[in-house]
Amino acid sequence: MAELEAFRSEVRAWLEANCPAEMREPMRDESDYCWGGRNPTFKNDAQKRWMEVMAERGWTVPDWPKEYGGGGLSPAETKILKQEMARIGARNPLMSFGISMLGPALLKYGNEEQKKRFLTEIARGEVRWCQGYSEPGAGSDLASLQTSAEDKGDHFLVNGQKVWTSYADKADWIFCLVRTSKESKHGGISFLLFDMASPGVSTKPILLISGYSPFCETFFDDVKVPKDQLVGELNKGWDVAKYLLGHEREMISGMGLSGGSTDALGTALGDLLADEPMLRTDVARFDVDAIAFRAMSERFIDELKAGRAHPAQPSMMKYAGTELNKRRHELVMAAGGASALEWESERSKGGKAAREWLRTKANSIEGGTSEIQLGIVAKRILNLPGA
Ligand SMILES: Cc1cc2nc3c(=O)[nH]c(=O)nc-3n(C[C@H](O)[C@H](O)[C@H](O)COP(=O)(O)OP(=O)(O)OC[C@H]3O[C@@H](n4cnc5c(N)ncnc54)[C@H](O)[C@@H]3O)c2cc1C
Repeated sequence: MAELEAFRSEVRAWLEANCPAEMREPMRDESDYCWGGRNPTFKNDAQKRWMEVMAERGWTVPDWPKEYGGGGLSPAETKILKQEMARIGARNPLMSFGISMLGPALLKYGNEEQKKRFLTEIARGEVRWCQGYSEPGAGSDLASLQTSAEDKGDHFLVNGQKVWTSYADKADWIFCLVRTSKESKHGGISFLLFDMASPGVSTKPILLISGYSPFCETFFDDVKVPKDQLVGELNKGWDVAKYLLGHEREMISGMGLSGGSTDALGTALGDLLADEPMLRTDVARFDVDAIAFRAMSERFIDELKAGRAHPAQPSMMKYAGTELNKRRHELVMAAGGASALEWESERSKGGKAAREWLRTKANSIEGGTSEIQLGIVAKRILNLPGA
């Protein structure tokens, strides 16, 4: 216990000395995220410095082993670091699908060479990854995927199409599910890593009604992938895919934590609720559920890190967290009234409230829809009979 308190003091002093003031401001929108990558763009020097000092210390991935660029911290130390960062409002130094999704899968299924190379690059923010799972005919029913990888001796030849690939046009590498055998639906899938600059890879951004293009259609046309970029065993990629999805769902479930803020929504909405007794009741109900979710989430993450979580628990948490976050933003909109719907005005900060509200709808689709999560919970946790 005394050791942990000493660690807390050390962390506090280090953050005080190294976290730039600009990186203690709340993020305004997605343009404040730092993604790293081969050709990184930084909003300002402070953002660059913050990513670099944290990577140097291994604290972009505090609980990964030191030999792969991590901080080698225990779960208790990792929690302290997060608490101390939250205390000063420190921003996440590096947003990365490598950290939240691919990394955990590589730690479990990658060989030593893959871990040394890819995990270290991820920890330093040197390579930006995208996720090649969904296809036009394979979303909820992901194992129907058709993108093929043909064995050509020393390499695979990949052909097919992915869709909804978030930031594929900005990513350096992709982790991709491919079909290597047609004999069995789940048993013929493999998990490949490859460079998005490989000949034959192309992307087409999908323009949304909001004017943004956060995801792409991604095409593979005779893409050569060296065989040593296969993760896990041939035709056993479904195990890797499911394990990664558990971590993706854990990450998305964090949406229910209101960006780390422990302030009650009732306090944040304040005067807007003064003459609204019905709405005030709904907000109070939400605040109670949010406290319960935070407690449950803390226990879940402890269990997950200790390898004791039920394999379907991330589905339960993803469902609960994303539905809670949708409720939060519905209440913000209800309290804000017509002015909360403003879209482009300066007063509304470019429609911040409305855009955040609409974005929550996507949280319960990405990483597997709420209906699919409920189906998994029913079958695997409650043992109800399947359809
Ligand atoms: C913001 C965002 C980012 C994304 N990023 C990526 C990415 O980077 N990489 C990637 O590979 N994919 C990505 N996706 C795709 C995402 O994984 C899929 O959209 C999701 O899995 C659902 O698949 P679908 O869109 O094909 O919908 P469908 O599977 O066609 O589902 C349509 C509707 O039918 C319901 N449904 C389907 N099957 C069942 C069932 N068995 N029981 C009950 N209801 C059912 C669904 O719940 C849904 O409401 C992203 C999606 C979003 C919204």
